[in-house]
Amino acid sequence: MSKTYVLEVHPYKKKRKPFGSGYEKYSTYWRFKGEESLVRARASYLKKKGYKTIFYPEKHIRSNIYRALYFRTHKPDALGKYHCVYCGKRLKESQVTVDHLIPVSAVKYDKRLQRKITYSGVNSPKNLVAACFDCNSRKGASTARIWRIKAALGKHRWVFVLRNILIVCLIAAAVIFLYLTLCVHFPEYSIFDMPRPE
Ligand SMILES: [Zn+2]
Repeated sequence: MSKTYVLEVHPYKKKRKPFGSGYEKYSTYWRFKGEESLVRARASYLKKKGYKTIFYPEKHIRSNIYRALYFRTHKPDALGKYHCVYCGKRLKESQVTVDHLIPVSAVKYDKRLQRKITYSGVNSPKNLVAACFDCNSRKGASTARIWRIKAALGKHRWVFVLRNILIVCLIAAAVIFLYLTLCVHFPEYSIFDMPRPE
């Protein structure tokens, strides 16, 4: 049995609905679902007619329930909070934007990415992460490896705890260094070698 595919028909210069039955209208394009061979045949026919078409396995279509699926499969921490996998910011459930780690829009156009997703499709819980609004907008539809590395590390809360400890240590080291430098040049400020009162 062949898999179900999704065909997206973008009107490009044409405005008319593509010929044939089973097309559903979306915001700016038509969508058809069917067997792979039929989808391929329709795509090549419509391409010749001047439409812009893309098709991909149905499992990579953006699901309507991926947000709910994320919260069903990912539990919050002991205080009921989630955290952004990219920056570590703590978030209430209502503040979480659920991000497709490998973006839906990228998967649609990229056969190589489609083959790479061996799990149950682009909406699989494995491809969903919690992100804050800022990180999610910054990431957009990027497929850069850095985001996957950040997400792999950021899934572990201790990574951010360690990062914060390191930041505090660095700041402390910088302050001590500055103070010691100051002491060398202005010994009167030093607490180590104060002149004793008579
Ligand atoms: Zn963030």
